[in-house]
Amino acid sequence: MISHDTIIKKMTSINYTIIPINPSAHLFEVTLTIAKPDPNGQVVSLPAWIPGSYMIRDFAKNIVEIAASSKGVSVKLTKLDKQSWRCAPCNGPLTLRYTVYAWDLSVRSAHLDTTHGYFNGTSVFLCVHGQDHLPCSVQIHRPAGEFAREWRVATTLPREGAQQWGFGLYRAADYDELVDHPVEMGTFTLIEFKACGVPHAIALTGRHRADTERLARDLMSICEYEIKFFGEPAPMSEYLFQVMVVDDGYGGLEHRSSTSLICSRGDLPRDGESEMSEGYRSFLGLCSHEYFHTWNVKRIKPAAFIPYDLSREVHTPLLWLFEGFTAYYDDLILRRCGLIDDASYLELLGQNATRVMRGSGRLKQAVADSSFDAWTKYYKQDENAPNAIISYYNKGALVALALDLTIRRDNEGARSLDDVMRALWQRHGLTNIGVTEQSVEVLINEVAGVDLSHFFNSALRSTDEIDLAPLFNAFTINYQLRPADAQSDKGGKAAKKKTIPTVLGVRSGENSLGAKLLNVYDGSAAQLAGLSAGDIVIAVDGLRATHGNLETTIAQRAPGEHVTLHAFRRDELMAFEVTLQMAPADTVYLAIEPQGDESAKRLRDSWLKGF
Ligand SMILES: [Zn+2]
Repeated sequence: MISHDTIIKKMTSINYTIIPINPSAHLFEVTLTIAKPDPNGQVVSLPAWIPGSYMIRDFAKNIVEIAASSKGVSVKLTKLDKQSWRCAPCNGPLTLRYTVYAWDLSVRSAHLDTTHGYFNGTSVFLCVHGQDHLPCSVQIHRPAGEFAREWRVATTLPREGAQQWGFGLYRAADYDELVDHPVEMGTFTLIEFKACGVPHAIALTGRHRADTERLARDLMSICEYEIKFFGEPAPMSEYLFQVMVVDDGYGGLEHRSSTSLICSRGDLPRDGESEMSEGYRSFLGLCSHEYFHTWNVKRIKPAAFIPYDLSREVHTPLLWLFEGFTAYYDDLILRRCGLIDDASYLELLGQNATRVMRGSGRLKQAVADSSFDAWTKYYKQDENAPNAIISYYNKGALVALALDLTIRRDNEGARSLDDVMRALWQRHGLTNIGVTEQSVEVLINEVAGVDLSHFFNSALRSTDEIDLAPLFNAFTINYQLRPADAQSDKGGKAAKKKTIPTVLGVRSGENSLGAKLLNVYDGSAAQLAGLSAGDIVIAVDGLRATHGNLETTIAQRAPGEHVTLHAFRRDELMAFEVTLQMAPADTVYLAIEPQGDESAKRLRDSWLKGF
């Protein structure tokens, strides 16, 4: 008799096993067996980054111990750089055994304790140089111990003998696939549904009291909409939402047939609640966003990502398309599915436009440059970020909005950005031909029926502001700017207060001594007076200041008034004479004009309601 394992070992020459060897110490043990190692000395390495999160993370730093052997004899390992090893030449199967420290509760790496285990392949699976195109197998083991008796596995890694939701043998067609199916293990709540006939599941890890039926219903309508948007059949045969529920968290990472998400417990809908809370709206927006990536970035890809070089930064000027357009569609799809109404959607649009308006970085960095420098700027933001950079998510979504409204207006609703996305899918997604700046601009021009070069140069490669007001007018929507009511005012709604507040031009946070300045905006009263991010303001005109009262104390004064602020910089007490300013009109809100003409209303309806 020949066991199933033996068959696999004959079929694949690269075999991994992963064991949660010591959950209390947060250690996975991984064994990699290479049937035919490079006779000149096999090189293996761990990625420096994970696709979708554009920052060097040096996952190899978490390899604690590593050793190699062949036929029971130890093989010398030579470290080549921070993430690569060369094994001494050997003929015959080569086995590497190593432990990986897994204690990063994020969607980007790995986490293990006695409550659950989670890993991305990029954190645990060494890449076999020269053989990364070959199929491989992965044996996923249950940790030893009573605590793991009920554990299951949630991953879309193809099963090769493992039962559904079970430990056992999985496989991947190549290394690229191996590291694109994160694995969750534990006692998650499993919710299953079908969208357009494709099996979907949600695995909720962490304590929660979520209304799982509502969650499944809402996600199903989002998934069905997006599958139909790009056209059936769906490009994946199954899909998994892996959700880590925590006290306070937000984030997601896209994969080819799954997404890993972190959310706040309070954002999930509770049994018996039917209203759409802001938290749940933002959670659904996150799910919609990551799901949209199944097409836009996982299959429609920048040319620079084909194939991914995971050893170093890979620059592309196109993240405005892959993140910005996805950010545009995520909330729009909630509206089109009927999960939110027009007013709620316009509020979200206004909030995004506000985020762009709030930083003078928009006047210094073009969105294509923001994309190119994502690695060192967007992903490494410091206190000066609002003054220096623009987000390719926020501005990219405004580029998408402006293009969508322009194409719809100029083609009387017959064409739209939806057609652009579908053309991208046909031309680049189904063919695996990478997108370049030139190819996407040519494609948009074709759909729009006009030459938009001037728009591309201005919106993508310059810091010119996108003039949204006249575009919204054509859809009977008023675009309005006003000053923020307070630091907590995210925009999207009319002002709560009638008076324009007086401001310092800072964002502050809690500190035991006073109000810590987190950002000081360019040209603000605070900056002109010499205050700096990091300063801790302890008094305004001799009265104690805190994060809680600084804003209101200043707001009660008049613009042009002088105040004395005392603040610590390092441990030195300093005094600053500040001339207060009127709050700038940097907050956007949108309102539907009830008296619009009929054709403009029809245009608006077809935009907001979709097909
Ligand atoms: Zn994204």
